[in-house]
Amino acid sequence: MENYHQQPPQTKSRFKRVCVFCGSSPGNKPSYQLAAIKLGEELVERKINLVYGGGSAGLMGLVSQAVYDGGRHVLGVIPRTLMPRELTGETVGEVRPVSGMHQRKAEMARHADAFIALPGGYGTLEELLEVITWAQLGIHDKPVGLLNVDGYYNSLLSFIDKAVDEGFIAPSARHIIISAPTAHELMSKLEEYVPKHSGVASKLTWEMEQQLGYTSKSEFLR
Ligand code: AMP
Repeated sequence: MENYHQQPPQTKSRFKRVCVFCGSSPGNKPSYQLAAIKLGEELVERKINLVYGGGSAGLMGLVSQAVYDGGRHVLGVIPRTLMPRELTGETVGEVRPVSGMHQRKAEMARHADAFIALPGGYGTLEELLEVITWAQLGIHDKPVGLLNVDGYYNSLLSFIDKAVDEGFIAPSARHIIISAPTAHELMSKLEEYVPKHSGVASKLTWEMEQQLGYTSKSEFLR
């Protein structure tokens, strides 16, 4: 007799830790909050740990709680000035205090094998565009995923297509952004991602290292 209660086999991921950028607000639709929880559960299912901006505000709190509840390691990287609990809420898992926003981004990037952006505002966009820019320059070749919940990022994707049409983004660099409407689909695409663009210069890597305080190139590229 068939066993209907059998669990699906756990998928082995190529990623050990994923960095999630997302809103410090929950957003107006329940679908955004649900997507944050589902992404956390998808990471747990694939035995992937999380690095994020720390705190329990908005979608950041939901994704980190879901990963923590599922028994995976959660690393929250948070500038000391944002550490008072009334600003960010409590961070689950390990907290790494850093000196500022630049060091936070460098630290999150260093610990991650891939990046995912959930819906968010200025902070999320800034973090997302920075890791895309670094990929374009060849500073890293880690996959960058956009969780396009309920078409939230449709207008951003259209704008990027316009920038390609207008000659400001190379068609090969358009492929840096992997987007999907669900966490499951996005993770499957990220697992298969092969970089198609070639970075410009190792000199840039070296300059970034100086600015961001990396001690070696391999520390960032891993
Ligand atoms: P936003 O999309 O503008 O809500 O900003 C979210 C992103 O910026 C997160 O991924 C964090 O790294 C950072 N951020 C902004 N506000 C906060 C906050 N109150 N606590 C922690 N991180 C924050």
